[in-house]
Order: sequence, then structure tokens, then C-alpha cells
Amino acid sequence: MAQDSLHRYLFDGVSVRGELVQLSNSFEQLTCSKEYPAPIKNLLGELMVATSLLTATLKFEGSITVQIQGDGPVPLVVINGNHDQVLRGTARWHGELADDITLQDMIGKGQIVITIEPEKGERYQGIVGLEGETLQECIEDYFERSEQLKTRLWLRTGDVDGKNHASGMLLQVMPDGQGSDEDFDHLAQLTDTVKNEELFTLAAEDVLYRLYHQENVKVFEPKNVTFKCTCSRERSASAIAAIERQEVEKMVVETGNLKLHCDYCGTDYEFDSVDIKAIFDQNSPSSDSMH
Ligand SMILES: [Zn+2]
Repeated sequence: MAQDSLHRYLFDGVSVRGELVQLSNSFEQLTCSKEYPAPIKNLLGELMVATSLLTATLKFEGSITVQIQGDGPVPLVVINGNHDQVLRGTARWHGELADDITLQDMIGKGQIVITIEPEKGERYQGIVGLEGETLQECIEDYFERSEQLKTRLWLRTGDVDGKNHASGMLLQVMPDGQGSDEDFDHLAQLTDTVKNEELFTLAAEDVLYRLYHQENVKVFEPKNVTFKCTCSRERSASAIAAIERQEVEKMVVETGNLKLHCDYCGTDYEFDSVDIKAIFDQNSPSSDSMH
């Protein structure tokens, strides 16, 4: 597989739609900024896949942030994705984690917060309790509550020849009310037979053919999925400009420079006293006039 991608498809005549996402490079890039313990890395992979599947259902330009929060040793796992399938994310944890730790033991008492932010319009937030045993059950639960549409998800992570993979599928009854439970259950049973190895190593067309060759499937143009953070030195500078000048100058005197850290990608942006002076002189016309 050359590129990380998302395929959407439709079963003609039965009002069920599907999505298949296959990630490798973006998964590796997103998880290489910290020394994530294996169970967190897997959870980040599953959450990337789930977020990619969710953003593909957006009918407008915008982004979705899926946050798993709790009081356990892993208090936060978050992925943000937009309509162009650009993903970023991070996780926090403390202490050692056993390799076979469960989702519940990692997160503790917790919830999943899904924030949908259109570029134009109101933001929407949905919250589901972390009641399912797996992330896929929790997200299925979210879909059934928020959209009242029968939905199934498959989220898989693993590695092949040392390369990390995160893949998944989604099946959903179309909102036109024409889809029957029987058709949906039949397609879900076929999808249940998908093997990790197939998801990780085969081209999307081949995975779909193996699963659904007796069905009438229409596959749409795929979308590339990439990891990229939207942070920048400019954005960090405007964040500094929003703080009181004296406050910032005091911090620079105390520590030599000001460091802003991006939690999503791990980049540090450093500003020394000359940079700070430039930021405030540029952003504040009134201070210019005093020279
Ligand atoms: Zn960043």
C-alpha cells in the first residue's frame, strides 16, 4: 500500500454504506513524538481510525475531535481530524502499563467527548460514557445515540515486518429508511470475516472484493489520509502577543527564553528577548509611536 487512504462505498439496492481506512505512515508519524507504551500506541491507532471514519461522515468542511478522558493512569487520549483527512493527536499517561491492560483499566472512570466543529456554524458536542469494553463498542454506541442509525465498526492495529498499521471499517444503514436489518446483518457478518493481515497488506479494492464479491458494491474515489499538525511559529507568536507584555518579558528575564510546546506534535517553539520585542513591537502600534 503506497499511501494511507480512506475508501467510501455503497451497497446498491440495500441502503447500506461502508468505509474502509488503512493507515501506516500517518500512524507511525503521529506516535513517534513520544515513547508511548504499546497499549497507548494501539489505542491511538484505533482512535485515529475511528476519527477518520467519523470525519468521512461530515457533510461540511470542519473538524472532529475525539477525546477519551478519565481518572485512570491514561487520563487523556485525543485525536483531531478534518474533512481533508488530516489527523493529529496525543495521549497522556503516568506510571507503567501492563501490555495486556484493558481500556477500562487504562482510562478508569471516563467518557468519550466528540466535538464537531464546522468551519462555518455552531459547534456540536456529544458525550458517551465509557461503558463498552472496547473503543469500537463505545463509538458504535455514540452513533446509535446521536444519529439513530444502525452502525458497526471494526478497529484493528498491529504490525507487519516491523511497520505499524491501524485499519478499520464502518458499516451504516443509510438514513433513507430503506435498509433492512437482515441486509445489514448479512453485510456485517461478511465484514466480521476480515483478517488483520488483509487490512494491513492488501489494497482496498482487494479487501472489498474478498469480503463482498457476491454483493453489488459501488466504490468512490479514495481520499489520502495524512498526519500533520496545524501548529506553527506564527500561531505561537500570536498566542504570546495575547499575553500582557510585562508578564512575558518577566518570564524571559527569569528563564532566558520562552518555550511553547505543542502537545499534538511535540514541536517546541522558542522565543528569546529579541523575538519577544519583535512580536510586541509588531503587534502593538501604540508602542511603536513611543520610540
Ligand atoms: Zn503541533
